[in-house]
Amino acid sequence: GLNAYSLERAEQLSSQWKGTSFLGGNAKNFIDGAFKDSSTDKWIELYDPSTQTLLSKVPETTTEEFESAVEAASKAFQSWKNSSVLKRQRFALELQALIRENMDNLAAAIVLEQGKTFADAKGDVLRGLQVVETACAIPTALMGEKLEVSKDMDTETRKVPLGVCASISPFNFPAMIPLWTIPLAIVTGNTLILKPSERDPGAALMIAELCQRAGLPDGVLNVVHGTVPTVNAICTHPKIKAVSFVGSNRAGQHIYDLATKNGKRVQANLGAKNHAVVMPDANKDQALNALIGAACGAAGQRCMAISVVVLVGTAQKFLPDLIERASKLKVSQGFEEGAEFGPVTTPAAKARIEGLIASAEKEGGKILLDGRGIQVPGYPDGNFIGATIIEASTEMTCYKEEIFGPVLIVMNANTLDEAISTVNSNPYGNGAAIFTQSGPIARKFETQIEAGQIGINVPIPASFLGDINFYGKGGISFYTQIKTTTSLWRSADANVDGEGVSVNMPTMK
Ligand code: NAD
Repeated sequence: GLNAYSLERAEQLSSQWKGTSFLGGNAKNFIDGAFKDSSTDKWIELYDPSTQTLLSKVPETTTEEFESAVEAASKAFQSWKNSSVLKRQRFALELQALIRENMDNLAAAIVLEQGKTFADAKGDVLRGLQVVETACAIPTALMGEKLEVSKDMDTETRKVPLGVCASISPFNFPAMIPLWTIPLAIVTGNTLILKPSERDPGAALMIAELCQRAGLPDGVLNVVHGTVPTVNAICTHPKIKAVSFVGSNRAGQHIYDLATKNGKRVQANLGAKNHAVVMPDANKDQALNALIGAACGAAGQRCMAISVVVLVGTAQKFLPDLIERASKLKVSQGFEEGAEFGPVTTPAAKARIEGLIASAEKEGGKILLDGRGIQVPGYPDGNFIGATIIEASTEMTCYKEEIFGPVLIVMNANTLDEAISTVNSNPYGNGAAIFTQSGPIARKFETQIEAGQIGINVPIPASFLGDINFYGKGGISFYTQIKTTTSLWRSADANVDGEGVSVNMPTMK
């Protein structure tokens, strides 16, 4: 069972929040402002990754229930799109205050279901909170533009909402990623259906309850659970106008294809294999600390994890220290004092990661630090894997696949050019970082790397499919369409002496 502290938190959360269970009960759907039990006969059991204790059962939402969520969102859109921008800003401000107040509760739910450390879980909430804070500036962000075309004629653009939008999120950031979409979709005047990860929907349900407490009208946000059938229903429903997806390449490609084929606007952030290049002149201490944090933090279950390091020339002498430092990382349950990272999400994920480590051995790689079979005192049943470092090459399976565990692949290169060519040959091509103290080297890296995100002396990024980014200005653009009005109010004296606009074809003057 859960340790005493986890049990106490699980009891407290289960009694205080309406939609979710941490004690073996059912997770509810949130439809039209109410937390509702599903009538499905298909339930997904969700276990604490440190002890395998049953925390909750997540419904595979039925077609009728899904349809009622779309109906609720559709109906709510009719009035929400006409609500004043100040009302929507007020919602964001209230939500911001409530999330801050409930930071520890949200983080505790994440530790229980997802397994990351309490400090990491608070970071997960904080990153999401920052998007809510961005959404508070919506009156400015939504401003349109006006051009005086000519005497008497103006063209005006405004940003109008799309309608019912949907968001499908992954297990690794149960608060942050739902919060990439909830605030911006809603303050721009859309309504939203969120399908959180079936592996840890607790935080999303708590956020839905906070949205309600922040004054959000019924039906503006709806949460439905499920797996592929629910996702396919989202991608094909005629009333859903846009789909945001964050998750693996396989699911992402399927969702991108299906939803775009059905005429939806889609943004999809996918898997990654991020490389770091370490030059001989790098600040060794800073580079090694950053690398270890980026490779093993959150048990490597981050899209912005660094999973490959290329040591250039004499930077290869940093390797023994890299191994030494990684071997000292403390792996334990997320609430335990001093835990630096926790278990991976499921026994299946653990088996998959261990299988990839084993494949490296078979294919000629060298396991320099082996985290398989690690014993964590007090948690014999947890999905723990210790920090692992493998010397491998580009044709090996462990290099080609996203491992999504605390595993760092090390490769050597003789020159910067060789390192750049390795990074650029990787099919993921998402993000890359360089550690160096030389400006010209950093600049060369920045210009020659074919990746969307570059880190210079900082580890990094995320990957992306679609046209517009999730948050910031990109988020506003994703959730709105431009409407242009051109008006001509001809004044009494127009054209008297050749002034003013002519709208006759074939030319405008
Ligand atoms: P996942 O793709 O398994 O699941 C993501 C969502 O898609 C879930 O809601 C799930 O129910 C659904 N889903 C899963 N398989 C599906 C299928 N075959 N068809 C339709 N829907 C499906 O991803 P995950 O394991 O939850 O998350 C980890 C992945 O997410 C990693 O690949 C990671 O790199 C990626 N990720 C990327 C970013 C980014 O910004 N680029 C951020 C976080 C995570």
